Amino acid sequence: MNRTIRTTCPYCGVGCGVLATVAADGTTEIRGDPEHPANFGRLCSKGAALGETLGHSERLLHPEILGKACDWNTALDAVANGFARTIREHGPDSVAFYVSGQLLTEDYYVANKLMKGFIGSANIDTNSRLCMSSSVAGHQRAFGSDTVPGNYQDLELATLIVLIGSNTAWCHPVIYQRIRAAKEKNPDLKIVVIDPRQTATSEIADLHLPVKPGSDALLFNGLLAYLHDRGDINTHFVDSFTEGMQPALDAAHACARSMAAVAAGCGLREPDVTRFYQWFSVNEKTVSVYSQGINQTSSGTDKVNAIINCHLLTGRIGRPGMGPFSVTGQPNAMGGREVGGLANQLAAHMNFDAGNVDRVRRFWNSSNVAQKPGLKAVDLFRAVGEGRIKALWIMATNPAVSLPDADRVRQALAQCEFVVVSDCVRATDTTAYAQVLLPASAWGEKNGTVTNSERRLSRQRAFLEPAGEARPDWWIVSEVARRLGYAQAFDYHSPADIFREHAALSGFENDGQRDFDLGALATLGDAEYEGFSPIQWPVPRDRPQGTPRMFADGRFFTENRKARFVAVTPRGPANEKDDEYPLALNTGRVRDHWHTLTRTGLSPRLSGHIVEPFAEVHPQDARQYGIHDGMLVTLTTRWGEMLARAHVTETQRPGSVFAPMHWNDQYARRARADALVNPVTDPVSGQPEFKHTPVNVAPYPAAWHAFLLSRRRLDITEASYCARATGQGFWRYELAGETPSWDWPRWARALLCAAPENDTRPEWIDYLDSGAGQYRGARLLGGRLESCLFVARTPELPARDWLASLFSRDTLTREERMHLLAGTLPSQAAAVSGGIVCACFSVGKNSIIDAIREKRLGTAEEVGQCLKAGTNCGSCIPEIKALLRQAQSAA
Ligand code: SF4
Repeated sequence: MNRTIRTTCPYCGVGCGVLATVAADGTTEIRGDPEHPANFGRLCSKGAALGETLGHSERLLHPEILGKACDWNTALDAVANGFARTIREHGPDSVAFYVSGQLLTEDYYVANKLMKGFIGSANIDTNSRLCMSSSVAGHQRAFGSDTVPGNYQDLELATLIVLIGSNTAWCHPVIYQRIRAAKEKNPDLKIVVIDPRQTATSEIADLHLPVKPGSDALLFNGLLAYLHDRGDINTHFVDSFTEGMQPALDAAHACARSMAAVAAGCGLREPDVTRFYQWFSVNEKTVSVYSQGINQTSSGTDKVNAIINCHLLTGRIGRPGMGPFSVTGQPNAMGGREVGGLANQLAAHMNFDAGNVDRVRRFWNSSNVAQKPGLKAVDLFRAVGEGRIKALWIMATNPAVSLPDADRVRQALAQCEFVVVSDCVRATDTTAYAQVLLPASAWGEKNGTVTNSERRLSRQRAFLEPAGEARPDWWIVSEVARRLGYAQAFDYHSPADIFREHAALSGFENDGQRDFDLGALATLGDAEYEGFSPIQWPVPRDRPQGTPRMFADGRFFTENRKARFVAVTPRGPANEKDDEYPLALNTGRVRDHWHTLTRTGLSPRLSGHIVEPFAEVHPQDARQYGIHDGMLVTLTTRWGEMLARAHVTETQRPGSVFAPMHWNDQYARRARADALVNPVTDPVSGQPEFKHTPVNVAPYPAAWHAFLLSRRRLDITEASYCARATGQGFWRYELAGETPSWDWPRWARALLCAAPENDTRPEWIDYLDSGAGQYRGARLLGGRLESCLFVARTPELPARDWLASLFSRDTLTREERMHLLAGTLPSQAAAVSGGIVCACFSVGKNSIIDAIREKRLGTAEEVGQCLKAGTNCGSCIPEIKALLRQAQSAA
């Protein structure tokens, strides 16, 4: 019988509700939960494909020590002994945990309690440091607490939405869908997109401001000065509920002397800046949404405060349809903030003030609570490299890929005395450095809570049995704590036990003094926890229905309960471009992948959208540096280098290069963008400057290019460039190398025949033109296509789509065999080629272009009626609209 479980998506901070239906045959169907207030049934392409990521092929199934499987007791004893010995010999600050926004709140709480409450060090930091710690710091400076004021409904009530440093359409797609729906309902809703790049999000913009990288603080200081000069001040709000306005205005006026000066400083047209300021001035219901483009810079905290200042001046906070709104990257970045997962927070939104330390000490009944903040992520790994941290436990994250200066991080891990990794995936770039590997439960197997960007707590529920010997993270940490001698404090039997304690701590001696209060949930029974419905914190004892908006009463969490303006003096990026590195590298995400590909890389339809690492370059820069669209390029910075496919596009700002952060050694060779990123951090938040590293771009001198499709996963060591993507029934490899001559037929046979699966003699169809450097070969077993390899001196090779489609067939027709080496049937030259646009229905770019041309389609709705593209999750609608625009301008 089918079972349907209500849970939440494990990807981004939108926190969509998901219905997972497990059929009797074990398959799982995923749908959006129509009752969840974050998404009301919507899902994006990533959420919709969750069912494709549940297999066990890549899972870590058993504990391991030094690569050998062992039982849990042996592994847990090894972890406890390793940490105990290090603490005994070198003190508590010689050990650290590096945790993740993928953990559930209960996992996070236990890890934080062990490190800060019992080991006695605050050396626990989370990968959320990389994503939104500047927003945390900005909130704390302005509000005295890390509080997101509003909620998603405000986006539907606003008359102006400003999206700053946020490719919402790709990174928070369901928020984007809600904004798009709001605009369709209310055409007067104005949308301003502030981003150096023209992204899919710009599709719905009434105004796109392609700001010079790093100039956002100047733009918002200019806005503050403009609003003040025009008298757009909510005097009652400012006088009653804020302090520090004049120094903030002085700083704003000092740098934004005129509209022309602001426009020049931001690299914008003056009329566009004026229009933005006028719209902000007249639209009281304004929501300013900001994300990694603001946070991931060396002055991210100041930028956050420059935005908040404008809302404080106009009193646009705490009421429906308005407010500054930081959207978080990860599914439980907020939960991590709540428990104290950041090294500079103690627990439950309390810092390290003596009163808080004493309060937490009494609550946890521990005499060993950490007294001071610990090391933030970048500093923490620097300390590992310098030998100051000697034992490190990494939970559910992949720092060898995702931290800046990632090669240095690898060196640090390689020389660290004791590295433990708990993860659900066996082979990541980070697990390669672990002495002890602990198998953790994955999404679908875990139980607990998460908090989304609008402070809404929801349950993640298990609907699958754990793979192999996998265990929940809270159980793993508690077992180690028990072995360290803290059995009584970690005597948990379920996540509900932990949640009640977490809620009780948040309400302990609170009385409205601290923003984070779940006091009303501290006595939740097990059945109530199981049936828990989404709710927005705070949920204090006297407000059990939760709190949709904060600060409606004008009372903040500073000592005098007033919000603080922050005087901001704009600063540029820490490392400026120069002659050697003349462009600015900006890193980010793509629509259908998540972080380091450990899950989305398993899904054929998600992997079909963008199959390899790329670098977007403006045509002007491409001309200057001899780069053509589709060629391989080398990106080099002072910190590292990578190879990527060049996308020459006018959507990129001249002088800048964009590269995605997802690819790593498991999916590509020499393609880790974060190895290039400078490790400079914001001095207040500790967040790294992922958005600006000086970079050089040059054509990669490949002697040959190739692609290979194979039913069997291969280890291709001969190619200097190798990117792997999952297809439907096959693996796709994009290859290139520098060695000029090669015996291709022999190489193909050696590589592809290495492990024959049955006794059938393979059949080869191949063609070699040594003079032209061309080879095309196909290998069939029993009439079924097993693999094919296409090689040329240039990247111009046949489209992969028709060949890929043959892997779903058991035999090929005579005509198909005849055209195998051409790479396509004459009649189907453009069937689905050009790459997947609609991941839900596998509709390719060229199919859409053909339909637009042949059927004279004029709108995304018409494309949807004709091909179904864009009619499910809607994530591809911006791309469909861009194709429509291209077709219209070509016509
Ligand atoms: S927007 Fe997409 S990735 Fe984010 S939570 Fe919703 S379904 Fe998941």
